[in-house]
Amino acid sequence: MGEINQKVSLPTGGELAELTAALIDIPSESHNEKALADAIEQALKSAKHLSVHRIGNNVIATNHNAHGVRVILAGHLDTVPANNNLPGRIDGGRVFGLGACDMKGGVAVALHLATRVASPSVDVTYIFYEAEEVAAEFNGLGRLAREAPEFLAADFAVLMEPSNANVEAGCQGTIRIQVSTHGERAHSARSWMGRNAIHQAHGKSCGFLNPMNQRGS
Ligand SMILES: [Zn+2]
Repeated sequence: MGEINQKVSLPTGGELAELTAALIDIPSESHNEKALADAIEQALKSAKHLSVHRIGNNVIATNHNAHGVRVILAGHLDTVPANNNLPGRIDGGRVFGLGACDMKGGVAVALHLATRVASPSVDVTYIFYEAEEVAAEFNGLGRLAREAPEFLAADFAVLMEPSNANVEAGCQGTIRIQVSTHGERAHSARSWMGRNAIHQAHGKSCGFLNPMNQRGS
């Protein structure tokens, strides 16, 4: 099947919910963000107060240096795979659909501000980036850090990830650890004759894992 070269115009002049639903309706599973990046680039380019740049499927828009203080508003374009949750819909004042929460709602807010606020009280860089939901090597912010770090220069940055409208100073992220523990094998019908390596590990050499079950304050 050939690539569908269809330009989608995003409703940046309307309500945020409507814009969020439109973003949901452009599928952007990780590694397939091109159509959404195209639509966002096109919407940003319609705003004359912005300079728009494209690196891969990362779209960056900056307003001009006027205040000497720069804030980054950033959000990722990709979603996890669909699960019978497309297209998006608005029901009872809420938006439903793949990525409504994580994080096309946040992308809609950033896009809304980018296109509608021509003279913000600080300088703003808007970054819409690819491949956040997959291995770090593909992450669009990493690519910008390697290829165009000037776009990441700022005094402050807000990632528009969902946090129920609370400001979170960081997020716990993920960690992958390879652990070796030792036991002694035995026939399962005589299990007491061996030593279970996992049971041995619990609370001893793997005790350092316990704090990871608690949410930091
Ligand atoms: Zn996210």
